[in-house]
Amino acid sequence: MTGRIHSFESFGAVDGPGVRYVVFFQGCPLRCMFCHNPDTWEVSGGEEYAAEDIVKKILPFRRFYDHGGGVTLSGGEPLLQLDFAAELLEQLKKEELHTAIDTSAAIPLSMARKAIDVADMLLLDFKAFDSALCERITGKPNILEQEKEYLEYCQSTGKKVWIRHVIVPGLTLNEAHLKALGDYLRKFSCVEKIEPLAFHKMGEFKWQKDLYKLAATEPPSIDEMKKVSELLGSY
Ligand code: SF4
Repeated sequence: MTGRIHSFESFGAVDGPGVRYVVFFQGCPLRCMFCHNPDTWEVSGGEEYAAEDIVKKILPFRRFYDHGGGVTLSGGEPLLQLDFAAELLEQLKKEELHTAIDTSAAIPLSMARKAIDVADMLLLDFKAFDSALCERITGKPNILEQEKEYLEYCQSTGKKVWIRHVIVPGLTLNEAHLKALGDYLRKFSCVEKIEPLAFHKMGEFKWQKDLYKLAATEPPSIDEMKKVSELLGSY
């Protein structure tokens, strides 16, 4: 089976534990206002690869990933190409490589389980802890509900999760929402880490100018991010 891939990163340091090989899948059903990879959106973009060819690219470097690192499927939304993601994860598992899926829960859990069950862990993005705001940010309804379903599923199956949450002044930099998210996450023993990520505009140049709504928004300050960490209880 083949899948469409946007790009690869051999020594990723920010997409899961340790040193990681990151496979950026092409295609995303969401349109997050703060997306810094809008070039991954179109499902027909990228290049086609067979799962075994990706594994072959990784294996010569496996000594770098064997000590607490591994392989992360990111994107775009990797679970949009569900069968291909599951097949790639199976092949990586056979090679005893640690695997993570970086997902926004844009695909219903009933379908996504097939890939989630094979991965060692999830990096689960919470876009906003408020349904209306989440829909405004992502352009799609029910994403927050699906993120919660993914997390509950991981709790029930004992799958390790790192939570990621982009902090955007004027949107998600909201004390009540952050406190509620922190209180909610505290109930989940499967959550090993919470990573608040400061909004930045490094991907702005990839946007069609009239579609980018955050041109006037500045990144949060260091003090604001400290406060966010306190509210989320990030660790
Ligand atoms: S889920 Fe990720 S890739 Fe998709 S639009 Fe949102 S930030 Fe961009």
